[in-house]
Amino acid sequence: MNIQVPEKVNTIIETLLAHGFEAYAVGGCVRDGLLGREADDWDITTSASPYEVKALFRRTIDTGIQHGTVTVMLDKEGFEVTTYRIDGEYEDGRHPKEVLFTKNLEEDLKRRDFTINAMAYNEQTGMVDIFGGVQDLNDKIIRCVGVAGDRFDEDALRIMRAFRFSAQLGFSIEEKTRIAAAERAENLKKISAERIRVELTKLLLSPHPDRLLWMQQNGITEIVLPEYDAMVATFLQEGKYAFNLGVYTLKVIEQAGTEGNWSKKELQMLKFAALLHSLSGVAAKAVMRRLKFDNETTDMVVRLVTAYDEYIDLSGSKEEHPVAMRHMMHRLGPDMMELLWELQRAQIVSGNPEIMEHKSAVLAKTRVLYREVVARGDCVSLKQLAVNGKDIIGIGATPGRQLGDILDQLLQQVLDKPELNEREILLSLAKQHIV
Ligand code: ATP
Ligand code: MG
Repeated sequence: MNIQVPEKVNTIIETLLAHGFEAYAVGGCVRDGLLGREADDWDITTSASPYEVKALFRRTIDTGIQHGTVTVMLDKEGFEVTTYRIDGEYEDGRHPKEVLFTKNLEEDLKRRDFTINAMAYNEQTGMVDIFGGVQDLNDKIIRCVGVAGDRFDEDALRIMRAFRFSAQLGFSIEEKTRIAAAERAENLKKISAERIRVELTKLLLSPHPDRLLWMQQNGITEIVLPEYDAMVATFLQEGKYAFNLGVYTLKVIEQAGTEGNWSKKELQMLKFAALLHSLSGVAAKAVMRRLKFDNETTDMVVRLVTAYDEYIDLSGSKEEHPVAMRHMMHRLGPDMMELLWELQRAQIVSGNPEIMEHKSAVLAKTRVLYREVVARGDCVSLKQLAVNGKDIIGIGATPGRQLGDILDQLLQQVLDKPELNEREILLSLAKQHIV
């Protein structure tokens, strides 16, 4: 059983071997190598102590030397090299009380969470697979190394990781592992919001966000995201079309971001807006705050949740459409429009099939209209107005409230009639407001 190891990783391993130490690629990269997936980083495990590692390479960084991790720099790339270790007793289900180094690879592999993450490889020895990781990869199973209950007691975050890996890989969760996780859901109360957020985000961004429903069925979301349990308990009816809100929400999450080119950050915004779209803005904000999201992500998600069912009335005369679009862009903020269309598309294709075609057609027209307004460069914000505060003060307005009101009225007029967005015209209009 061979995997393709990058040259630099081999160089590090061979250097260590040449000096009488053991060294292997280990963990996620071995798993991904066997799956033919691109590993995002290559971790190396070795019998050498951190100081021995440092002595062998020209440039190293003390990344976590007390835990045995040294980053070896080759050209501009860094590789984490960690000494074989045993995690001491876990005091509080969060942190090992102490870390002990060992000369025994098996001890190091034993401390890892799942069989598929507990394999080591180098070209000399080949695959070291003590716990049946290869078999579980073939069978598409997430299984704890050793006794599942003990492993979740040591570190409750592994409960989240089980569902997250299952979502990323499309794997099932072995029965004993699943039951042990369900029994210990409460232990997740001890895990920091940041670590929960990381796992939840990876799960939502994965190809199988439906694992969120598995988490719900096993009592996990009740602890980390009770809002989702409320969705699963909600049945809705649209005419003849009945659906479960929890299941519908999963479909929206899965769809959101599948069309268009989004950055990782935007995808995260779309997925969380999809997850929370049925909540009020206030409730959505509470979830984002609780999960300790940054302000930018929180604000955008809350804005999307608040605006998700805003549509433009396309029934009136054609001339009115761009006016309505400009007002909508001004009201919601032009920076969120593309995300909003994608969220709305995700909802439409996940919902009632009887009205899907009609709603898709309306959204398509709306997007054409939006693109026309953007392409023309129509003014939709104070920034784009042909006059600024200084200009208005120059003709006699008082800074503060009056100035703000005048600029706002000018903008409203320009939203209705973009041809008014010229300096001379706006100044003469402003004069009428200054009495
Ligand atoms: P990815 O980086 O794609 O999220 P990964 O498997 O590389 O997946 P990391 O969190 O980078 O996961 O951890 C690297 C390795 O360290 C894992 O493969 C596993 O062997 C071990 N590991 C990480 N976190 C834990 C944990 N909480 N309990 C036990 N072992 C862990
Ligand atoms: Mg990793």
